[in-house]
Amino acid sequence: MADCLFCKIVAGDIPAERVAESSRTLAFRDINPQAPTHVLVIPKEHYPDLASLASSDAGLLAEVALQTQQVADAEGIAADGYRVVFNTGAEAGQTVFHVHAHVLGGRRMAWPPG
Ligand code: AMP
Ligand code: ZN
Repeated sequence: MADCLFCKIVAGDIPAERVAESSRTLAFRDINPQAPTHVLVIPKEHYPDLASLASSDAGLLAEVALQTQQVADAEGIAADGYRVVFNTGAEAGQTVFHVHAHVLGGRRMAWPPG
C-alpha cells in the first residue's frame, strides 16, 4: 500500500527500531511507548485491521500471535504478564490502518482500559 506508514517501515523507507522479524512478520518499538515495553507486531503484507487479516489469512494471524509471545519472552515480561491489544476502528483508537498487535508490559496495567 503506497500510502501506508507501516508498509513503509516494512520496506525500510521509514526507520524503526526492529526487535524481531520472520519471513512474514515484523516487530518494532512503538515511537510513543505507553509502557516500559511497547512493541508493535505486524504482518508484512497489508491488511487494514484484525477482522480483514483473520478472515483472509488465519495462518498469518497465528504467526503474528506467535511473534507477540516471542517478543514478550525476549523482553523479559512473559513471566509477570503482558497485554496484547488490537485497536480496531476509530472509536477504539486505531490510527494506523495496517493491522498491528501492541505488546505492552513492564508495569501493572489497569482494567478496564480507559
Ligand atoms: P493505533 O493507535 O492502535 O493505530 O496504534 C498506532 C501506533 O503506532 C501508536 O501507538 C503510535 O505511537 C505508533 N506509531 C506511529 N508512528 C510510528 C512510527 N513511525 N514508528 C513506530 N511506531 C509508530
Ligand atoms: Zn500497510
